[in-house]
Amino acid sequence: MTTPDTPLLPNYIAGRWQTGHGHGTTLRDAVTGESLVRVDNTGLNLHEGFVFAREHGGAALRAMSYGQRAAMLGEVVKVLQTNRDAYYDIATRNSGTTTKDSAVDIDGGIFTLGYYAKQGEALGDAKCLLDGERIRMGKDPVFQTQHVLNPTRGVALFINAFNFPSWGLWEKAAPALLSGVPVIVKPATATAWLTQRMVEDVVKAGVLPEGALSVICGSSAHLMDQLQPFDVVSFTGSAETARIIRSHPAVAQRSVRCNIEADSLNSALLDPSATVDSEAFKLMVSEVVREMTVKSGQKCTAIRRIFVPLELFDDAAEAISAKLAKVTVGNPRNETVRMGALVSQEQKRSVLHGIEALCHEALVLFDGSEVPLVDADPEASACVAPTLLGHRDPGQAKVLHEIEVFGPVATLMAYEDEDEAWDLVRRGEGSLVASVYSEDPAFIARAAAELADSHGRVHAISPDVAASQTGHGNVMPMSLHGGPGRAGGGEELGGLRALGFYHRRTAVQASSAALDALAATAAPFKP
Ligand code: NAP
Repeated sequence: MTTPDTPLLPNYIAGRWQTGHGHGTTLRDAVTGESLVRVDNTGLNLHEGFVFAREHGGAALRAMSYGQRAAMLGEVVKVLQTNRDAYYDIATRNSGTTTKDSAVDIDGGIFTLGYYAKQGEALGDAKCLLDGERIRMGKDPVFQTQHVLNPTRGVALFINAFNFPSWGLWEKAAPALLSGVPVIVKPATATAWLTQRMVEDVVKAGVLPEGALSVICGSSAHLMDQLQPFDVVSFTGSAETARIIRSHPAVAQRSVRCNIEADSLNSALLDPSATVDSEAFKLMVSEVVREMTVKSGQKCTAIRRIFVPLELFDDAAEAISAKLAKVTVGNPRNETVRMGALVSQEQKRSVLHGIEALCHEALVLFDGSEVPLVDADPEASACVAPTLLGHRDPGQAKVLHEIEVFGPVATLMAYEDEDEAWDLVRRGEGSLVASVYSEDPAFIARAAAELADSHGRVHAISPDVAASQTGHGNVMPMSLHGGPGRAGGGEELGGLRALGFYHRRTAVQASSAALDALAATAAPFKP
């Protein structure tokens, strides 16, 4: 039930707070089902908002140097840190996450912003970037080519997924704003509140120029229609919506640059020479359990397929199940709860449906739903317990390599030799990340070479990095995020590499003297 006094969140576009004229969509508490806030953008003048961002936000940002924009990101960090408690409260209610899981999104976003503030500082007073060295064009060295990167004169539209309302905004906004490109974010409706609140705090603090950051909550209708040739769109979400974005006339006809982060069947792979007593085996088991349960498995990078040598299949099933049995599921407000809810009833239905589909091919090895939830109503809450499925001959399976179940679910799969392992991992048809567990550097090197072309990241865990490794599913700003094929073909982060998406590369062919004058306003691009 939506109570009549459920607040309607305003949008921020064209430098004004504006509420939609419709009733809007109600966002709910993921555990109790209570209505929290409503979002709506009916009747807003989107055209005016995009023009304002382009003309006011873009011009003001481009007038600043990289160093000034980096300092501005530092100010955004301070604003967000001041308001952290409110963000945790919203996440507990709207996303149903435990404090630890909320941190992945909230502090992960703030950390990423801070990272870009630091990296951008090094670019100092520059207004553009030099890509590589000058290249002679002929015998006479006086006429040369210099590739130059300039911020695009458009807006960056972000269409984001529900699982990272904070990090999903800031991991994109940090490189965009550092580049000098204004941002318009359209958060996923189910969890739009946190994004809206963060934008509200930053706008009210006055640390960004007018038009640099806008937020539009609710329907995505007509957003893509606003895009002009020098705008960019960065989408994170399902493969199905990605297809709509890619085929929109803005992309297909007006050449709007488009980055897609879609779904992914990420793998964990245990070295064939591992034994049940080996460190590699133990490290894999811990990481799999962590990945299945952090944010209730609602991470695009979460491990979905676990590959182990056939002779270790039963041991792995037993060890993973034993750890999953200790995971308490329920209301994140109860301190004994380790795993909270999914974000909505809709997601719960989708995950339960997905498990059913996988069960046409897989065996259930562990079913956490037999244990009662802590402080949560099984009907009203969006809680789903962890489930481990298994298949001893996954080469014969189809849907196990096709369906991404976006929850605390993974499938254990056996392989007979190394070559079969590579083939099975590749059946994911392009993923964000594969992790490898081994004590043998030569095996890790072979795995990296075999899996690199089908993955955005290969994360190798050996006993010597056990304490310092950053986690299979954690996206670190210095490393590339994205993946080929079904993962969307996008690239984000990777340190200053991320700035590339928001810049246009131009070959300037000119005299050495002219190129000297240009270089005086530039910094070398060293991603
Ligand atoms: P989704 O349903 O595709 O929605 C993503 C975003 O697209 C939402 O903001 C949604 O708005 C919007 N949208 C829906 N229809 C649209 C249309 N016709 N035109 C323009 N925008 C439209 O995905 P989701 O369920 O939020 O997210 C889950 C998926 O995201 C999973 O598959 C996961 O793997 C993937 N994901 C990938 C990454 C990555 O970095 N690769 C990260 C996180 C999640 P509404 O919410 O208003 O419908």
